[in-house]
Amino acid sequence: MMKKVKFSTLGCKVNQYETEAMSELFVKSGYEITDDYDCDVFVLNTCTVTNLSDRKSRQQISRIKSQNKDAIIAVVGCYSQVSPEEIKNIDGVNVIVGTKYRDKIVELCEKAKTTDEIINKVEDISKNKEFEELTINTEHSMTRAYIKIQEGCSQFCSYCIIPYARGPIRSRNIRDIVLEAKRLADNGFKEIVLTGIHVASYGRDLQENIGLIDVIEDVGQIENIKRIRLSSLEPRIVDRDFLERLSKVNQICDHFHLSVQSGSDKILKSMNRKYDTKLYKDTVNLIREYFPNAAITTDIIVGFPGETDEDFEDTMKFVDEIKFSKIHVFKYSNRKGTVASKMKNQISGSIKKDRSQKLIQKSKYYTDQFLDNMLNKPIQVLFEAKNDDGYIKGYTKNYIRVKRKYNKNLSNKIIDVICTRREDEELVCD
Ligand code: SF4
Repeated sequence: MMKKVKFSTLGCKVNQYETEAMSELFVKSGYEITDDYDCDVFVLNTCTVTNLSDRKSRQQISRIKSQNKDAIIAVVGCYSQVSPEEIKNIDGVNVIVGTKYRDKIVELCEKAKTTDEIINKVEDISKNKEFEELTINTEHSMTRAYIKIQEGCSQFCSYCIIPYARGPIRSRNIRDIVLEAKRLADNGFKEIVLTGIHVASYGRDLQENIGLIDVIEDVGQIENIKRIRLSSLEPRIVDRDFLERLSKVNQICDHFHLSVQSGSDKILKSMNRKYDTKLYKDTVNLIREYFPNAAITTDIIVGFPGETDEDFEDTMKFVDEIKFSKIHVFKYSNRKGTVASKMKNQISGSIKKDRSQKLIQKSKYYTDQFLDNMLNKPIQVLFEAKNDDGYIKGYTKNYIRVKRKYNKNLSNKIIDVICTRREDEELVCD
């Protein structure tokens, strides 16, 4: 009887990548992946960005325990790394692994079957120098594949718990990245997304004098890769030299996710962000010089401790200056264990709600403008596979979602189309 393993993943694309890699390790060890609670092993890959993410993890653990009291339960990832004692006290947990030793997940779960003791592999990672090699060969979507090129973050933004969960920056060997990209291209993937916890830090911990742009150029040498997409960037590395080289990589997608977090220099300082609004704006202008149709998307936190009405007005004015194509708006969430959680002048929930609604409305105004500007002109779309209510969907290089009547011959194909209308944030071509 084949052993079965069920996965559940919370959080970011990096977590999803790691789950993909762990599932391949189980398959190699003779397991079958199942979505059913009737499984031998349940692996929960956790997130701890907010207190809510922690609560969701605890809820998932009690659910599996109530559905299947015999399954080996392994709790992995960021929540485990930051709060192993909390997880140890949750009934039914057998294995606790943080953000190290995920490559040993199968043997740890096998070992758990032979003992009643909780296997706790969490250790201090603040001095960790090793990049943990977790690779993937395939993915559920047959169009876009994520490659994790970097681990950890050493920025210590005052509201963020990630550096404590993921440890210091560790860059993956550039040759391993290219090898994985080649394998994925040979498996038919046209688009590669280079991801990590703080991608902009790639190479800072390496002896060789290499950076993110070297990875992009090397992956760009792989013939069958038609698109290279970057997860989020940081303004400080995006200078003229970076853009000059980037603009020569034909496959590069002109979508730049540059988290700004606030349009107030006072708040940026209090967040311990390493740039001000002037540098950010200069960076965006430089990007638009090299990539005129670029999508500039961002994240903004409203209601950060000490944010006055004037500070918020600065953010609203800054958005009018930059005209982002999309803003992900977050209400500040007081995450225990961060510097900001101890700050005075915490903002009330109603003010946060009010500010986030205002900002979402303003964001929508510029998103609609950006999308309408892409109508009635030729744009290139990489269509995915799924038949979505009679439509096939895909993305442009600058990450606009496009749909057209379903036609299976379009799947995983890059096609030039002209869209004549917009439905909310989707362009339609007939
Ligand atoms: S850059 Fe700042 S917000 Fe992003 S992961 Fe690092 S500490 Fe967190």
